[in-house]
Amino acid sequence: MVWDISKEFNFCYGHRVWSQSLIGAFTEKGNTACKCRHLHGHEGKVEVHLTSEYLENGMVTDFLHLGWLKTFIDNTIDHKFIIDKNDPMFLHFVGAAKSIEPNLLDGLLKVGYSLDTSNIVNPHEKEILDGFFIVDFVPTSEKLSEWMFNLVAFKMQRLAKVSRIDWWETPKSRSTYIGWRQNQEALI
Ligand code: ZN
Repeated sequence: MVWDISKEFNFCYGHRVWSQSLIGAFTEKGNTACKCRHLHGHEGKVEVHLTSEYLENGMVTDFLHLGWLKTFIDNTIDHKFIIDKNDPMFLHFVGAAKSIEPNLLDGLLKVGYSLDTSNIVNPHEKEILDGFFIVDFVPTSEKLSEWMFNLVAFKMQRLAKVSRIDWWETPKSRSTYIGWRQNQEALI
């Protein structure tokens, strides 16, 4: 007997899939325009699945134990632009910033980077740059679902096993990452 519980989280985010390439024979009307290379946004959704072969107090774990993830999503990626630091246009977009600072979960797990905007005087420039969340991978829904899986698995390791993460880019487009995290290495 196995139980699987899940909880959904909604948020908005922007990204640019700078590595996109298309094969016209498989697309609608043979279109090879790589629109995902444009700066664009999504109304995203993450569905976290936790699993267990036994129950404690009648639960896999309390749904409220995922409250930290709502806070994390709200503070870290909601209404942010997720950008790959390997993006060939990275410096073009964020060039005014002096350096990037690691973004840590629980002070331990490196999950991304923020720009150090402490020396930027122009408030409009600062608020634009504060809107970037930097990762070390192309932010496709596939890579973002893997990133979220490892992040949740790290945080929940004392309470529950994560079985899968669904990352919805649109209501019709979803990536699912299924796995089991073995260690606590940095995610990026
Ligand atoms: Zn997109």
